[in-house]
Amino acid sequence: DTNRFQAIISHCKEYGFVFPSSEIYDGLQAVYDYGQWGSELKKNIKDYWWKSMTQLQDNIVGIDAAIFMHPTTWKASGHVDGFNDPMIDNKDSKKRYRVDHLIESHTDQLKADGKEAEAEAIISAMEKADAAGDLAALKQLIDDNKIKCGISGTANWTDIRQFNLMFSTEFGSTVSSDEENNKVYLRPETAQGIFVNFLNVQKTGRMKIPFGIAQIGKAFRNEIVARQFIFRMREFEQMEMQFFIKPGTQKEWYEYWKQARLKWHLELGVPQTEYRFHDHVKLAHYADAACDIEYNFPMGFKELEGIHSRTDFDLRNHQEYSKKKLQYFDNDIDPETGKPIGNYIPYVIETSIGLDRMFLSMICAAYTEEELGTPEKPDSRVVLKFPAKLAPIKLAVFPLTKKDGLPEIAQGIMAAHRGDFKCFYEEKDTIGKRYRRMDALGVPFCITVDHQTKEDNTVTVRYRDSMQQERIAIDQIGELVRKAFQ
Ligand code: ATP
Repeated sequence: DTNRFQAIISHCKEYGFVFPSSEIYDGLQAVYDYGQWGSELKKNIKDYWWKSMTQLQDNIVGIDAAIFMHPTTWKASGHVDGFNDPMIDNKDSKKRYRVDHLIESHTDQLKADGKEAEAEAIISAMEKADAAGDLAALKQLIDDNKIKCGISGTANWTDIRQFNLMFSTEFGSTVSSDEENNKVYLRPETAQGIFVNFLNVQKTGRMKIPFGIAQIGKAFRNEIVARQFIFRMREFEQMEMQFFIKPGTQKEWYEYWKQARLKWHLELGVPQTEYRFHDHVKLAHYADAACDIEYNFPMGFKELEGIHSRTDFDLRNHQEYSKKKLQYFDNDIDPETGKPIGNYIPYVIETSIGLDRMFLSMICAAYTEEELGTPEKPDSRVVLKFPAKLAPIKLAVFPLTKKDGLPEIAQGIMAAHRGDFKCFYEEKDTIGKRYRRMDALGVPFCITVDHQTKEDNTVTVRYRDSMQQERIAIDQIGELVRKAFQ
């Protein structure tokens, strides 16, 4: 639904959630800045994830590794040789496309025209060719289906080439003769910072398998992008957790984390029908099982989070490249031999979610246009129905008028609560207009101080979703708000 998506993008800009990067210079493609309320929402999502990983479980700890890593990291991880996307140029428009995106936009159109079976056949042929790295077969698929660029575009294509997605830069002075050795990459995923620190954390934290290491941080990919807002960015943020396990137990832990991650999403109150699993046919170079949790974005079900059974691929390769033993000594007694199990390279289950995609899913789920009023007096509102724990602002406080001591009482309420949660004070405009503005920011509770407050210490609380109002005592405000988001 492109209209809905456009409305959400406009809303994000108009209400200070997301701005195009360097907008005064007309922006930078696929790079975005988070504004005053977007950065609060993003932080709340991070906190919710971080707490669920590192605070609510004994055996998961967090780290914060650097973006720059030794260049050999990316040789060992397979990214220098394997982190490629097949891409193709249109000779007439001179535009570059990712082959899978080009084919998918064609099959999306077929599906919209009711040609499901034809679309599925093309997708499965694409997945097969992609898995085999067969660029000629991919090109054949584009030619056979006469796939064009855009509606009125042409089908005059170059051959398909592999395009590495990593950004690189140099360390030290650029006059050095040894360019290759000065080359460093901006990390394309946060996971490798966890793998190279595996033993540091295991030893200093005295961690016993199974255990996890969690991290939130920036990642960079030189994506070839169609306009998808913050769904696909060149600079984005990931929340990843690597769970280290005994080899042979990966199937059960993979299932465990699939369910645990879905549960985490559902606890935010979005209906289950908006999520689905998608099991991968094509496995990444490091995985023995993988699936996505897809969310029903306005452009359809798309990947929100990946759960990957990564075997010992990463640790084994880092051991080989670094010549340092990356093994765990398991003290547990092997029932067959009666002796400690001993040394092994752990297997890994990874959960990897894009913070920006999570942000987008939460905005999309929350964004609601409501028709109010009567046929004679039509009215409408846009309201962001965020779960209270993610809402950028928890409580808005309004004095009914700017006089009679009402602002002072309202400021007193602000002072009492701003240390506990984000509050917002507003005295301009009518109360009705103030409510609408707070609805558009997703504020769950608005409090109005009026003349009766001076008599009996009560205020009006107005609920965002139901728009119901009731009177409560000033000293009940804190509990009302805290109960909603704790
Ligand atoms: P896609 O198939 O959409 O390119 P991916 O399978 O390459 O994604 P992973 O490498 O598994 O993605 O990364 C884990 C998560 O990081 C994804 O589920 C997604 O939420 C997020 N992510 C990946 N690339 C981007 C990007 N360019 N912009 C925003 N988020 C991203």
